Amino acid sequence: MVDVQISVRDIIDPSVIQVMKKIPRDRFVLEKHRDLAYSDQALPIGKSQTISQPYVVAFMTQALDLKSSSRVLEIGSGSGYQTAVLASIAQSVYSIEVIQSLLDRARSVLSSLNFTNIHTKCSDGRQGWKEHAPFDRIIVTAASEDIPPALLDQLANNGKMIIPIGRQHWSQDLVLISKQGKRIIKEKLLPVRFVPLVKKTSEKI
Ligand code: SAH
Repeated sequence: MVDVQISVRDIIDPSVIQVMKKIPRDRFVLEKHRDLAYSDQALPIGKSQTISQPYVVAFMTQALDLKSSSRVLEIGSGSGYQTAVLASIAQSVYSIEVIQSLLDRARSVLSSLNFTNIHTKCSDGRQGWKEHAPFDRIIVTAASEDIPPALLDQLANNGKMIIPIGRQHWSQDLVLISKQGKRIIKEKLLPVRFVPLVKKTSEKI
């Protein structure tokens, strides 16, 4: 997967390449899709959600420029695959998922892989996780029409956030946001298509 889909594209950060080789993506996909676990595509994980394409996971991780000291907030745990990639490089990951059953499954896979630096909760990620803010890095893995204000507030000075911005069911742009004091710098990186970031807690989904 890494040789054919990641390294031949524009992923050059050695720590990202190493981690993409190490994390077993087959553990994060549904049993019935296991034979497709290392294919170049997003896959359904139930509840109309998807595990992201491996290349997009690598691209977003590289764009965040993680340090071993980074504290990361992730919105949209989904399968937990991106969470595992982040937690293998950064100091700690705080991951929020709005669908309880997906979070339960992600938690059990992540604990079976012995991660101890991942903290999760079921709630609306648009509100962030104030008790643990500020975060050095924020990654949103569902598409939003705007930059949720709480997330921008909870981003540390000199922090970076990556988020797909655009209308639901349309192509969105992955936007990298850097916070430098009062200056907010936005850079469009890649056209993408993510499931929508929902606006309300819907634990019964
Ligand atoms: N990174 C995940 C991608 C999952 S898809 C993976 O590769 O597996 C996006 C996820 O965002 C879905 O699981 C969806 O339920 C979740 N989500 C959507 N809106 C949300 C919100 N407001 N707060 C938290 N999670 C949300």
